[in-house]
Amino acid sequence: MSDKKNSNKSDVTEKIVSLSKRRGLIFQSSEIYGGLNGCYDYGPLGVELLRNIKEAWWKEMTYREDVEGLDASILMHPRVWEASGHVEHFSDPMVDCKSCKSRYRVDVLFETLSAKNKKVVIEEILKTDSSLSDSEDSMKDFFTNDPNPYLSLLVCPNCGNKETFTEARSFNLMFKTFIGPLEDSSNTVFLRPETAQGIYVNFNNVKESSRQKLPFGIAQVGKAFRNEINTKNFLFRTREFEQMEMQYFINPADDDKWFEYWREQRFNWFIKYGMDPAKLKLHVHEKLAHYAKAAVDIEFEFPFGWGEIEGIHNRTDFDLKRHTEFSGKKIEYFDDQTKERFTPYVIETSAGASRSFFAFLCNAYDEEEMVKENSDGTSSTETRTVLRFHPSLAPIKAAVFPLVNRDGMQDIAQNISAELRKNFKVFYDDSGAVGRRYRRQDECGTPFCITVDSDTLTDNTVTVRDRDSMVQERINKDNIQSYINSKLS
Ligand code: ATP
Repeated sequence: MSDKKNSNKSDVTEKIVSLSKRRGLIFQSSEIYGGLNGCYDYGPLGVELLRNIKEAWWKEMTYREDVEGLDASILMHPRVWEASGHVEHFSDPMVDCKSCKSRYRVDVLFETLSAKNKKVVIEEILKTDSSLSDSEDSMKDFFTNDPNPYLSLLVCPNCGNKETFTEARSFNLMFKTFIGPLEDSSNTVFLRPETAQGIYVNFNNVKESSRQKLPFGIAQVGKAFRNEINTKNFLFRTREFEQMEMQYFINPADDDKWFEYWREQRFNWFIKYGMDPAKLKLHVHEKLAHYAKAAVDIEFEFPFGWGEIEGIHNRTDFDLKRHTEFSGKKIEYFDDQTKERFTPYVIETSAGASRSFFAFLCNAYDEEEMVKENSDGTSSTETRTVLRFHPSLAPIKAAVFPLVNRDGMQDIAQNISAELRKNFKVFYDDSGAVGRRYRRQDECGTPFCITVDSDTLTDNTVTVRDRDSMVQERINKDNIQSYINSKLS
């Protein structure tokens, strides 16, 4: 989608949000009650797209010899989150603007400052230590670590007022709840903020039950919850979301090799499912989390700017050692060949299913100017909105139309729909001009439209119209399933 075709990028986000509601991809949570901030519901088409993304990930990551699947519970023993460091570290500093009441996560505030204001802050930071690298990343990290000395220099990006920020406060992002009827601290449990810990605490169980040898991985798809300070940009940052995570356990001596391997695999996975390579980039972290030796993000260019969709981390033996320490149970590996006993290192690939959904949706969204021939011989232009999903991610794989509702064309079309529906989601539509039916399917990304017309009655063929090229091919109606299968693989 070029900027020429879509003048304004925030306009594109708005169009995607509106299309999502209109076509049943995404609804606001509890909309009839005014909505619940940071939570969304996946509608009839959205749930298909989300399932297809998760399915594509699951097949890629677990249909291999060295990776096993897992589905751990959301609620876990509270000590898990002490061991992981989430109780102590999983907090973000935040500030409020006293004038307009906007609340900002400090790192996000730094990113949102005007270029002029950011320059003033950077100059001030460099006065304290001129040996610092003045790269955007290291300046942001420095500011996030201790924002208070610089708050008086800031201009609120929302209201434009100066010297209006409160001191930074820390805020733990984990949601708390209670097991049983008593709401006291001994009954506190957390909604998991990541799926990874469910994998670490099951390392021994999976290793022994599956008889895997290093290197091997454990993969899981599941809900995670974070009480985010700012939820904005639609599905990008929500309070309830789904993750697709895989933890790959290795001999520490091989960590660089496996880190590179998974970084490449994961980057290519997005391209395999239709992401425009020009909209993907890697961002190597300079500042690392307390558990990490190396970290790289796969970023996608959303209409509002670049944002992380997946992180690949070398988490060393931090998590397994911490769980050994906190639980008193050894989590180790014994190599029969070298007779070595050690705690494996972990390479983690951590993607958001919901955030990937949004990225695939933005990547697919396109508007195309088309010349339309009018019945009076004149021509005019119209805009075709298309979601160019990879066929295997598309919510509906095929739409079937009788050209007109006579001569038994509906019955043939209904039979084709019923046959195809045994394998995937199909939409039957017999109302309105066929051109309009095509447009409705383009808008929800259906890759193939099959039309039964008068020729079908005599030669058993139908037309298959391709969503992207709009080219129509005639094929025998008995070959529709194999035709679509060949395009899906
Ligand atoms: P961010 O810096 O954006 O908060 P993070 O670095 O904390 O993200 P990770 O903890 O590495 O993110 O989580 C892994 C993946 O989970 C992210 O790449 C993203 O796709 C997804 N994710 C994390 N937080 C959210 C959220 N609030 N809403 C939707 N997806 C999320």
